[in-house]
Amino acid sequence: MPELPEVETVRRGLAPSMEGQRITRAQVNRPDLRWPFPPRMAERLTGARVERLGRRSKYILADLDTGETLIIHLGMSGRMLVSGDPLGQFHHDHPAPEKHDHVVLDMENGARITFNDARRFGAMDLTPTDRVAQHPLLSSLGPEPLGNSFDEDYLIDRLKGRAMPIKSALLDQKIIAGLGNIYVCEVLHRTGISPLRKARDVTSTRVASLVPAIREVLTEAIDAGGSSLRDHRQTDGELGYFQHEFRAYDREGEPCPTPGCDGIIGRIVQSGRSSFYCPTCQR
Ligand code: ZN
Repeated sequence: MPELPEVETVRRGLAPSMEGQRITRAQVNRPDLRWPFPPRMAERLTGARVERLGRRSKYILADLDTGETLIIHLGMSGRMLVSGDPLGQFHHDHPAPEKHDHVVLDMENGARITFNDARRFGAMDLTPTDRVAQHPLLSSLGPEPLGNSFDEDYLIDRLKGRAMPIKSALLDQKIIAGLGNIYVCEVLHRTGISPLRKARDVTSTRVASLVPAIREVLTEAIDAGGSSLRDHRQTDGELGYFQHEFRAYDREGEPCPTPGCDGIIGRIVQSGRSSFYCPTCQR
């Protein structure tokens, strides 16, 4: 499942081809993905100009000059690929349509945006731009970890008295938006906090240390184009490479990379998800 860095990588790849550009043709090849598409989606998109391409948590938000916002969720396996030659940078033609190309947007600059999703856990919806924060997919999300409203005081306050493991608390989208299993494992390893420790038992100093660690891991992952474990691709079809930088995630049985630690990365299952951590230096 793409997490925040993968979605931000896709957003950054799409922006030069979409922002400021009109959608000359929208082709919608099926009635639904995870949920039904909104009524007359192709008609509502055709002719609209994309004023801004933003992101909230794992959702890409295309603000249109029609007063609506197109909400895009990649789901488990969704890819958004850019073809054509909008900036004179690309040399490839539009690829032949593939089986799972569900939505195709042709932009006035010649770019073609293709949403391909083999497993169809992705989603698209249209909602009034001035009410996008109230959309059911977005209304209960916590602050953006790279935004200004996420800081040490906020996190200390939200974790105070919570009996759940710190791992579960950091995965709770109501507390922080956009963090998933991979990056929570990496953040806990960097801060030396055991995923098993109850949130209320992590000292304020250590909770505070999570904030810069979260920002650092996410920023490094975005710079690497995200992590490509299964389905993530950048908009040019390239793989992200942050998976080569993992210190704990998916490294069961390997030596802990923390300087001076002679531990071995272990794996446990918490709430049905694998937690990779070093039992020696994560306490
Ligand atoms: Zn260690």
